[in-house]
Amino acid sequence: MQTICCTVPDSLAAALRDRIRDDHTSCQHVVASALGQYLAAPIHTLFQVSTSAALVEGLYQGAVRVSRLLEHGDFGLGTFIDLDGEMVVLDGVCYRVTADGRVARVDDDPLVPYAVVTRFAPEVRADHATFTDFAGLEAACDALRGSDNLFHAFRVRATFTHARARVMCAVHPGTHLGDAAGGQAEFDTGTIAATLVGLWAPAYAGAFCVPGYHFHILSDDLRHGGHLLDCAADVATIECCAIADLHVALPETEAFLRADLGRDPQAELARAERRHEPNTQGA
Ligand SMILES: [Zn+2]
Repeated sequence: MQTICCTVPDSLAAALRDRIRDDHTSCQHVVASALGQYLAAPIHTLFQVSTSAALVEGLYQGAVRVSRLLEHGDFGLGTFIDLDGEMVVLDGVCYRVTADGRVARVDDDPLVPYAVVTRFAPEVRADHATFTDFAGLEAACDALRGSDNLFHAFRVRATFTHARARVMCAVHPGTHLGDAAGGQAEFDTGTIAATLVGLWAPAYAGAFCVPGYHFHILSDDLRHGGHLLDCAADVATIECCAIADLHVALPETEAFLRADLGRDPQAELARAERRHEPNTQGA
């Protein structure tokens, strides 16, 4: 983010103040939105590699390099070839969490099979959010979402009193996501200072995204991370921005071109990604 100072006519300044007041928003948001429209430069674009349906069908080959991913966003999540670890992109750095629980910065520019990134520029925030479980975290984030029909990114910072995360283990190519679930490692932490990198996708996007909330966690000391299953915090800062522009980079691998992706992936995705929900199991 950059700070720009400029002089504008009194009439524009008055109109700006009126809009900030009427929309209950910030000067930054109004000016950035206006500039984005005038310059035809979308400010919040979600850049996604591949689709959740492809992941469910076991297409874990690399499609896009990390360096290209980072050109499109500084904040996001994903996985690696053969589901070998969980990806967290935070402050422009790509991290890999492996099934032995270690976190490493990704500097060798590998291809990745699935990832979603954006340039995170928070529009609204809550400074004293409290939640005792994943459902409470979802409710706290829901309170900041302005629509059920736009994508949203969430950054949650806290000293969590508890967190539970999973990390996928590498699987053979072609293993369906649901079957890959058996090889995951799960970690419980005690009190941990960490950031959650979160994305929320509308229900209608379930054919190519993980609908609802999807969080990856990264501890401040870079010693713990993974796909978030549960957490609790007494005082959390939650920041959110809405995203109305989506760019999906489809793989051009032979496996993707030949795959049958007509099956609805939602049931298997829910099983694989939402272990924190009652009566579900899986990755
Ligand atoms: Zn995940």
